[in-house]
Amino acid sequence: MPPTERLYDDDPYLREFRARVLRVDGYEVELDRTAFYPGGGGQAGDSGVIGGNRVVDTQKDGGTIIHIIEKTPSLSVGDEVGCEIDWERRYRIMRLHSAAHIMEHFLWNQLGHLKRLGSHVDEKKDRADYAFEGRLPPEDLKRVEEVVNDFMVEGHDIRIGANPAQPGIRIWMCAEIEMPCGGTHVRNTEEIGKIRLKRKNPGKGKERVETSLRLD
Ligand SMILES: [Zn+2]
Repeated sequence: MPPTERLYDDDPYLREFRARVLRVDGYEVELDRTAFYPGGGGQAGDSGVIGGNRVVDTQKDGGTIIHIIEKTPSLSVGDEVGCEIDWERRYRIMRLHSAAHIMEHFLWNQLGHLKRLGSHVDEKKDRADYAFEGRLPPEDLKRVEEVVNDFMVEGHDIRIGANPAQPGIRIWMCAEIEMPCGGTHVRNTEEIGKIRLKRKNPGKGKERVETSLRLD
């Protein structure tokens, strides 16, 4: 299968686009180009509408992006269709995903580097699991929350760059923070607003930090 043209890489704010249907198989639809972000890599897949058909999830199979339709799709190969992602949901995911990177930076500043064991962001919250024995001290988490919220209002630009030594790897950059990430992000920390942090214990030797948006 040919790789799908990923419109969200160049413009994460693109919400409506036109595309051609390349394949329809059961509930799966493949397009020549898409702004729907596929799940995997820790960010939830997008939902939305393709030619009047409700998209409930988006997934990746190698370089191919697969849109999962709620009912049997009323689409045929070769159709040119209007598409729209659920922008409100995606924008919250973008704000939370950017917030999660910033939270991690300041968490490491506060506690030293903690190995991240996994993470997932959807429209409700970001969940990041770290290797940690015992309980994350609440006063440290409170401090991180304050520092992150102060940082957000300073209005730092967020950019995506590349490292010539690692072709195909996208580098997320904000102030002095850099990390590899293929997800979709806001352009400036001001868009995120204030966040709230909460700890959970998902199992022995692990601590989870949940990041949520304080205002909608
Ligand atoms: Zn990321």
